[in-house]
Amino acid sequence: MQTNSQFDYIIVGAGLSGLHLSHSLSRDEYFKDYSVLIIDKKTSKKTDNYFSFWEIGKGKWDKILKNKWLKGNFFSKKDKIEMDFSLYNYKTLSSVDFKNHVKNELKKNKKFKFIDDLVLKTIQKDNKVIVVGEKKTYYAKHVFDSRFTVNIYKELNKYTSLKQHFLGWVIKTNENKFEKDSLTFMDYRIRDKSKTAFTYVLPFNDNEALIEHTYFSKEECLKEVYEVYIKEYLKKFYSISNYKIIKSEYGVIPMTTYPFYKDSTKNITKIGTAGGWVKPSTGYSFKNCEKYSKTILENIKKGKDIRIVPKKRYYFLDKILLGVISKYNYRGENIFYRMIKRNPTKKVLKFLNEESTFWEISKIVISMRSIYFVLIFFRSLFNKRL
Ligand SMILES: Cc1cc2nc3c(=O)[nH]c(=O)nc-3n(C[C@H](O)[C@H](O)[C@H](O)COP(=O)(O)OP(=O)(O)OC[C@H]3O[C@@H](n4cnc5c(N)ncnc54)[C@H](O)[C@@H]3O)c2cc1C
Repeated sequence: MQTNSQFDYIIVGAGLSGLHLSHSLSRDEYFKDYSVLIIDKKTSKKTDNYFSFWEIGKGKWDKILKNKWLKGNFFSKKDKIEMDFSLYNYKTLSSVDFKNHVKNELKKNKKFKFIDDLVLKTIQKDNKVIVVGEKKTYYAKHVFDSRFTVNIYKELNKYTSLKQHFLGWVIKTNENKFEKDSLTFMDYRIRDKSKTAFTYVLPFNDNEALIEHTYFSKEECLKEVYEVYIKEYLKKFYSISNYKIIKSEYGVIPMTTYPFYKDSTKNITKIGTAGGWVKPSTGYSFKNCEKYSKTILENIKKGKDIRIVPKKRYYFLDKILLGVISKYNYRGENIFYRMIKRNPTKKVLKFLNEESTFWEISKIVISMRSIYFVLIFFRSLFNKRL
């Protein structure tokens, strides 16, 4: 018999991965009789940020998109590359819209319950998991946990690791300064020359856009640094000095080859960033959360290992790519420039989504030929950390 604190599944964290997984569970007939508890700590901090991803044509989240783009640009110091997103559409939604959308759908399902509690620890006992919360103790057959097991930033030092750190503003201008239909994927024209750093522009309207200054580097900057670059960028390339900041977002995302899947146990599966769902060489994870949630359900049905173990060939490529950017941090511009200049956008996006065939991967790797890749390749044979 189940008491009101016993569940088939407990999901710790109603963030991106927890909600993606809950949403997939709720829509799968196989799990229709499973009880699911979603626990998240109550926070007074209301954050609203934007999640972007790319996919072919229509998708699951189209109703709540802030905008979608079929074209865009990449800028290096000396070149402009037009990018074609007509196959893999680039899409952006707000985290608040995403959360509300999923929560409203789950509220209609009596098998799903949300609780505000701070999870202190999880204990695996026999074939069950005890979840100790600040307010109460809960029990489940299986737990999906989006908290980090380890102090990840300490672990980063043992593996090839960087951080994607960024600050962005959504601004509104009086005049129409942006082109709503065209995004800037990466712009390296204004940056700290010793680092991989770029500006990213997502126009939501002709007079409203998200402008973000992003680094792929070892350490975060003072907030003022990102702000100075954004202001300079707006002035130089859009002649904008009068604007209203309507939202801002700041993030630090680990880009690492740390094997997160090893932190899972038989009855506790790590998910989200803590499960290694962030693509190490790009920092993107929205699409992975959707894909991996589906994979988890398929693995459960087939009685297979539930954990998401990185595919060997992509893990290796991420290690090399991260290794080059880590060792030669100023080279990031050149690496992404070669990848985007020498390959059709759809092939690059397919590659970054880890959907390419062996030959497609080979073509991209060959197109980026660089002595730095060769050097890092040989180092990678003997070192866990590059
Ligand atoms: C500002 C920002 C912008 C980003 N933009 C993009 C993007 O455009 N595209 C993309 O693909 N990725 C993006 N990312 C990266 C990535 O998608 C996110 O970091 C994503 O939120 C990770 O999902 P998650 O479930 O692991 O963590 P989270 O979404 O952070 O969820 C974790 C949840 O666990 C809860 N929690 C933590 N500890 C406890 C506890 N002890 N007890 C109970 N609950 C707890 C938290 O309250 C939180 O709700 C962005 C990240 C940030 C920060």
